[in-house]
Amino acid sequence: MTELTCQVVIVGAGPYGLAAAAHLRRANVDLRVFGKAMESWERQMPPGMLLRSYWEGSHISDPHGDLTLDEYQRARGVQLPRPVRLDDFIDYGQWFQRKAVPELDGRCVTRIERSSKCFRVMLEDGESIWAQRVVIATGIASFSWRPRQFSAVPPTLASHSSEHGDLGRFAGQRVVVVGGGQSALESATLLHESGAAVEVIVRAPRVRWLRYGTRLHTWLHNQANPLRRILYPPSDVGPPGLNWIVDTPDLFRRLPFAVQSLVARRAIRPAGAGWLRPRMNGVRITTGRVITSANPFGQQVRLRLDDGTERCSDHVLLATGYHVDISRCAFLAPDLVRSLLLVDGYPDLTAGFEASLAGLHFLGASAARTFGPLMRFVAGTKYAASALTGCILGQAANPAKSKVASYEWDGLAQTPDR
Ligand SMILES: Cc1cc2nc3c(=O)[nH]c(=O)nc-3n(C[C@H](O)[C@H](O)[C@H](O)COP(=O)(O)OP(=O)(O)OC[C@H]3O[C@@H](n4cnc5c(N)ncnc54)[C@H](O)[C@@H]3O)c2cc1C
Repeated sequence: MTELTCQVVIVGAGPYGLAAAAHLRRANVDLRVFGKAMESWERQMPPGMLLRSYWEGSHISDPHGDLTLDEYQRARGVQLPRPVRLDDFIDYGQWFQRKAVPELDGRCVTRIERSSKCFRVMLEDGESIWAQRVVIATGIASFSWRPRQFSAVPPTLASHSSEHGDLGRFAGQRVVVVGGGQSALESATLLHESGAAVEVIVRAPRVRWLRYGTRLHTWLHNQANPLRRILYPPSDVGPPGLNWIVDTPDLFRRLPFAVQSLVARRAIRPAGAGWLRPRMNGVRITTGRVITSANPFGQQVRLRLDDGTERCSDHVLLATGYHVDISRCAFLAPDLVRSLLLVDGYPDLTAGFEASLAGLHFLGASAARTFGPLMRFVAGTKYAASALTGCILGQAANPAKSKVASYEWDGLAQTPDR
């Protein structure tokens, strides 16, 4: 088999992989990018879904801001509805890829090993590439979290929300959705609209609704409203005040851990977008209850709740979120994982998104422990891709000072340190 070499391999072609590739390509870095463009949005999110992030927070970053959603609209000659629809966003991401990363290689990376001074990246067809650096931008799919109460229930009866594209296959069935966040509430809505009988079981005492779509929110978000720029940064993750901290990852990473945890918990606590609420008429919502046991019962699942009541359903949809744990990335060689400094499963990263193993970088949700909740959203692509590129250019220019880089784009100056 052929063996190639290059400076950087990027694994994953979702918003983070594409943004990183666009920035590095522009900086003439010798690059290979693997994965199918926007694959997890196509396969692991339900058709009919609307983006919860705002327009301004949903642009995938390129070095000169030429490939925003606005530019996509202009290029297609259409006005996209807001909130942005899933299929429009997938099409936007694929358009971005064709423009910024035309050389994308759709093959899957099956294994990454460390060997003396570089990395060996193996592909699904057996080909290997040697790279000085590897950027992992593979999203959250490996980190789906299944509560232990469901360990005796087969996936045919209880599945994680990430295992589904189309929820229409549950039409006519009784489905229990577990969770109180956007994914749970939107999945319940789509199940209900496709003819399933749905109950949502929420651990919290009440469902939190975000104001997105309400009159007050629309007024505050109006371009002409002077309060808008003060209250809301473009990413707008978290409540006013905290949203500015979240919007500044370089500040977030310097905060004491206890403060970081508080900010992160508050900014991304489970909640549903207000525009879902009227569509949920007819969906039973049970709050303040914990499922204590779950067992198969013929072709159904029997659930017992902490108030002693029981439910029988044809299927349970676990919209129970994701826990980042790098050791669950099956394509990373075990000795490579062992050599990484991990904190609660997250890699410890420098300002250039570099892990404790020099040359290995992590983008997206895996970087959220260091850079905060913005990394869980498309809005974080600008910061992440700029800082990564700064680090790589800086180290290439001055290998002796491998942890110091100086990089300016769009007025962003970085001096990476751990
Ligand atoms: C239901 C749901 C709704 C969401 N809504 C929003 C929203 O409205 N706004 C928002 O900003 N964020 C939203 N998010 C979060 C969203 O997932 C992230 O913002 C975004 O996808 C992060 O981009 P990424 O590139 O890190 O990951 P992904 O988009 O998941 O991309 C990772 C890519 O890596 C590829 N890959 C994985 N393993 C390999 C491999 N071994 N070899 C090659 N390729 C590989 C995958 O196929 C995938 O295409 C939502 C998430 C979910 C689950």
